[in-house]
Amino acid sequence: MHPLAKLDHQFVWHPFTQMRDWLAREPVVIVEGKGAVLRDVHGREYLDANSSIWTNLHGHNHPKINSAIQRQLKKIAHSSALGLANEPASLLAQQLVEAANQVCDSRSTICDSKKKSARQSQIANRKLEKVFFSDDGSTALEVALKLAHEFTRRMRGKQVGRASSPATQPKFLSLDGAYHGDTVGAVALGHIDLFHKAYSGLLFKTDKVMSPFCYRCPFNRARPERADAREYRKCHWECVGLVEQKFSAQKNRGNSYAAFVFEPAMQGAAGMIPQPATWLKQVSEIARANGALLIADEVMTGFGRTGIVAADVRRLISKRKAKSKPPHVGSYKNNLFACHRENVQPDFLCLAKGLTGGYLPMAATLTTQKIFDAFLGEYHEFKTFFHGHSYTGNQLGAAASLASLEILQSEKSIRARQKLETALRNELEQLWELPNVGDIRQAGLVAGIELVKNWRTREPFDLRERAGIRVCEAMARRGVLTRPVGNVIVLMPPYCTTPAQLLKMISALREAVEICFR
Ligand code: PMP
Repeated sequence: MHPLAKLDHQFVWHPFTQMRDWLAREPVVIVEGKGAVLRDVHGREYLDANSSIWTNLHGHNHPKINSAIQRQLKKIAHSSALGLANEPASLLAQQLVEAANQVCDSRSTICDSKKKSARQSQIANRKLEKVFFSDDGSTALEVALKLAHEFTRRMRGKQVGRASSPATQPKFLSLDGAYHGDTVGAVALGHIDLFHKAYSGLLFKTDKVMSPFCYRCPFNRARPERADAREYRKCHWECVGLVEQKFSAQKNRGNSYAAFVFEPAMQGAAGMIPQPATWLKQVSEIARANGALLIADEVMTGFGRTGIVAADVRRLISKRKAKSKPPHVGSYKNNLFACHRENVQPDFLCLAKGLTGGYLPMAATLTTQKIFDAFLGEYHEFKTFFHGHSYTGNQLGAAASLASLEILQSEKSIRARQKLETALRNELEQLWELPNVGDIRQAGLVAGIELVKNWRTREPFDLRERAGIRVCEAMARRGVLTRPVGNVIVLMPPYCTTPAQLLKMISALREAVEICFR
């Protein structure tokens, strides 16, 4: 065993890992990476097929991000945001606010919401104006959770002329299978028993509602087909009806939900569960009509992961044909967030993972002026938001994020992402031939391939059979690294993945499934 692998075995405890299994074999020790390729201590190369747990956007060792960090490093690595401002964090906040307010449709910004119908503007007319930085996805959610809780408490206290009683403490609704991180507040919002049940004694209670999981939906009357279950589902939107029921039951209890928390477009750790078109818009309208704040967790889906809006590419091409001036870099920022695809503007937008292009731990929670204003007051009123982390607003992270945003908005990146998305869709098609593939779910540049015992009955593998783990191990032997979510194999290639690399990822998956279930 390599000496570094020995050190790891002796000293390191890995996340979400059964350490007995880990200690039974030599770990892959990564020493370097370039583009979509990772290299280990023995010089073996692997494709990073899950973008290093969903963080990496443009590939490893990207020259632009590297030099942005190096430039910043020559100035300063970190100074506290408690009491001090800094250059890259201020610039980044401005850029994030600009990017986060390009909603409604591909041509207009949020400010044009007067043109929209009253119902639509109800979900699209929020403006996100303030950015609270933190360190990772969990803390981005903690910030949103605490702000929403305190904002609601204060507003309700104001309305009735006193602070809310324990029976009317702000309550939160999130989705079945939700995962929003591992800090205690984020865990409380989660509904994956395997991860969360053990800590129930530590948690406050939140409610859950059915998520729109077409493939395993009890209301879907369609028999399994060899296509994404969203395409052939037969239902009457019972999942939306259940959201409506949940909100009205809570209202009848005299304590309407303070906030609805969701991942837009695709629930990641729940098993790559994609939402059918218009679901998000429908449930957001219900939540708004019931006075709930919307908390969008775009930790996984943000920064273009769920794909390019076709209208943006058309616009890009027509501008080129017309030989007009190259578009301003800010013109394509509306590609970046999944909730904007359905014209939903949340009250809190939680970002992490891809924010720095996958380089450094940094997160941001964006919110509205109204929420911000509720925390203003005289010093002695102590309305301050008492929350913050030592590395908040870190300069190196902010410099990397600024470089990543610039790359994301370049024509080259937009075109590459669109091509990759189409190639992924085409290459995934062949996997329907495998009888152990039950569902293939793609949202832009993310795909979940659900393994089943029998596609005709959708019979799942028992988790003890380690079907997903075995397939990923076989893929690793073929030079492709990813991690399963239960029985679902995740493919989330970095945006720089070449057609040949994508083909290798799919072939490795195909062979792995074939040999594991022969
Ligand atoms: N929200 C979502 C949707 C996530 O996928 C994750 C992490 N997988 C988190 C929150 C937590 O992020 P972190 O691991 O950076 O704390």
